[in-house]
Amino acid sequence: MKIVDASVLVCGPGRNYVTVRIETDEGVTGLGDATLNGRELSVAAYLSEHVLPTLIGGDPQRIEDTWQQLYRGAYWRRGPVTMAAIAAVDLALWDIKAKVAGLPLYQLLGGASRDRVRTYGHAAGRDLPELFDSVRARQAEGYQAIRIQSGIPGLQRVYSIAQTENTPGMPVVEDWDTAAYLRHIPGVFEAVRNEFGPELPLLHDVHHRLTPQQSARLAKSLEPYDLFWLEDCTPAEDQSALRLVRQHSTIPLAIGEVFNTVFDYQTLITERLIDFVRSPVTHFGGVTAVKKLLDFAALYQIRSGLHGPADISPVGMAAAVHLGLAVHNFGIQEYSGYPAQAAEVFHPGYTFTDGHLRPSEAPGLGVTLDEQAMAAHPYRRDYLPYNRLLDGTLHDW
Ligand SMILES: [Mg+2]
Repeated sequence: MKIVDASVLVCGPGRNYVTVRIETDEGVTGLGDATLNGRELSVAAYLSEHVLPTLIGGDPQRIEDTWQQLYRGAYWRRGPVTMAAIAAVDLALWDIKAKVAGLPLYQLLGGASRDRVRTYGHAAGRDLPELFDSVRARQAEGYQAIRIQSGIPGLQRVYSIAQTENTPGMPVVEDWDTAAYLRHIPGVFEAVRNEFGPELPLLHDVHHRLTPQQSARLAKSLEPYDLFWLEDCTPAEDQSALRLVRQHSTIPLAIGEVFNTVFDYQTLITERLIDFVRSPVTHFGGVTAVKKLLDFAALYQIRSGLHGPADISPVGMAAAVHLGLAVHNFGIQEYSGYPAQAAEVFHPGYTFTDGHLRPSEAPGLGVTLDEQAMAAHPYRRDYLPYNRLLDGTLHDW
């Protein structure tokens, strides 16, 4: 079997997605996700100019060797653009291998370790009544674990709360005041616990905005509310920052959605500074790399909590669901659904019932693509927001 064609498909059904399609001489086709939110075309160019031409004529069954060629052979290792490109090729090759075997991907990863994959959804509100309505809406959709984000008194535009554009075509600028946030958030969790009871698993994302000292204070103040995890409390690239948080709190910690390789986790895992690894298949070099990460994490009783916003395409999400069903140290899967138009382009195969995902039983990843519908939804330039303190200083987003 030989690879005879490999192409990049870029579309924008509600938001932008970058998909790789690899075709073989035996008519088997594989799909991969290369979507890097806000930097999509950089990965598309990396793939079409530097990666895909080198695959033509190669053996699609040699997944590990292809991965090593793209990682070690490029000399320039790591980084989100490189690792998203490698991930897309890796997913497409796993898709092909599983289709050739006539099995859903999770069967090639060891088979099912559970019946279904638990997810968490997102609830957010400017104030408590709006937040409670949002939690109830997620519960009505079936979610059994919920991430809580809240507006902060005195701030107009806060992460994950409804925003308005500043200047059309330019990034949204959000507001931040760490002192106001640290004063406000414990009361939000106390109110949510009082309203929804002790059993609902609650999560919270700090979006890398605190110092280690501030994070330790927040973690201690949230301990009475029994969080499932506290996410991204410090800037992720500073692995040693979590030592101070760990010394002061038993709150479970999750980090890693901006990591690209296992080396980003080396200190965090071996020193047991975290409880959940967050890297999505799409930005971490694919199934090959995330399976190794999870096996490494398992040695330290650290579980999966893979990143799953709407900018991980349904192709990347399908791969996460197969992995989540198969690995023993599964924790939870983030899943917030997709824009309605995305369903015209991607037919994901997996199902979402009672807050749980279950992969397709079709051979491969189980995702199919409607390329005609894709043409009706072209790419549109878009940006991630950025964040400023009240005096105008740029802060972490
Ligand atoms: Mg996060």
